[in-house]
Amino acid sequence: MGSKARGVPRHGLSTRVVHAVGPKGEPGSPVVPPIVQSSTFLYGGFPEESGEILYTRYGNNPNQVAVAEKMAALEGMEASLVLGSGMAATSMALLALLRPGDHIVASRYLYGATRRLLEGEFSNRGISATLIDPEGGREWRQAMSDRTRVLFLELPVNPTLRVFDPRPIAKLAEEEGVSLVVDATFASPVNLRPGELGADVVIQSATKYLGGHSDLIAGVVSGSRGFIDEVREMLRLYGPALDPHAAWLLERGIRTLGVRMDRHNRNAMELAQWFEEQPELEKVIYPGLESHPDHRVAKTLMDGFGGMLEIQLKGGGPAADAFTRALRIAIVAPSLGGVETLVSQPRYTSHRGLSAEDLRQIGIPEGYVRISVGIEDVEDLQNDFLGGLEAVHQL
Ligand code: PLP
Repeated sequence: MGSKARGVPRHGLSTRVVHAVGPKGEPGSPVVPPIVQSSTFLYGGFPEESGEILYTRYGNNPNQVAVAEKMAALEGMEASLVLGSGMAATSMALLALLRPGDHIVASRYLYGATRRLLEGEFSNRGISATLIDPEGGREWRQAMSDRTRVLFLELPVNPTLRVFDPRPIAKLAEEEGVSLVVDATFASPVNLRPGELGADVVIQSATKYLGGHSDLIAGVVSGSRGFIDEVREMLRLYGPALDPHAAWLLERGIRTLGVRMDRHNRNAMELAQWFEEQPELEKVIYPGLESHPDHRVAKTLMDGFGGMLEIQLKGGGPAADAFTRALRIAIVAPSLGGVETLVSQPRYTSHRGLSAEDLRQIGIPEGYVRISVGIEDVEDLQNDFLGGLEAVHQL
């Protein structure tokens, strides 16, 4: 695929999140784009007189277009398309790339629903998947066949925060004429831009950091202009369009992405270091810590280590239950990337569909707690988590 990054952008990320799509109208027009809550738009009725048909399911409502343009500028890709959820972004992007009989090679470290989409849903429809351990570069090549069309990687991995270098995988994809698709939801474009590292397609669940306030569900696909047109065709046919109001909220959320990520990155780093000193923990997992297996790769690839932090309690499942029940500021809920700290146990939420053996294989033992560190005062979060650790002692 042609796309890849568009070269060196003129402005920094924090400027682009605010200004990539600005007011273009006459004096007196609003600084903030209005919500265009309309499903359809005037059309002359005669093809020779009218331009493109505007219809909100087509992804060309002005609010959808504004987010898409901003996202392309942030990812450094030719074009983007906004859809009704992160899963819509993943499934429409893959449907645009794969036909019955085709094959996909994916990292086995995936968000649970993505894994079920590949292993269950797609295989029922004649698209096969091989899940591999992406640790060794050779695994990708070995798993490929002449039917392979797509390589799929999540960066960083939900929830184990592994960070694999996409560059050798992108090189392999290019050599073999297949597409590398990277889901970079956990990083957001502020911390990682896979398009600049050779990925052909970048997926974001905009529900998370991009929206940033846990108040919308959305997804974004970025890639070459030609590919995005193909995904748009899938959007038109399958229909998972983003509502204009949610698109407007998303565009507003993205304006503060730079400052929010800055705070998420700092809070998570401080908490990770603090957790490392707590005796109740078996392990603290954060790409910013030297103890993380991929610290060096993450340091090379990422502009920030992110707001996601995982802890493993020595007391296993009961300790994790006691810890989460005692929290008073952090909210026990699935999802991530909002301004508020959210805590969950993947065995109950994002990876609930997996067997105990599958969970163990991908590094999610009992006692594992996923923390989406918010933008609160870090001392208050520390005190809250201290309360959780005290509850573990009382077991
Ligand atoms: N990708 C990753 C890495 C996720 O964590 C999630 C959701 O948690 C998704 C995709 C799906 O996003 P959505 O819930 O917006 O469909």
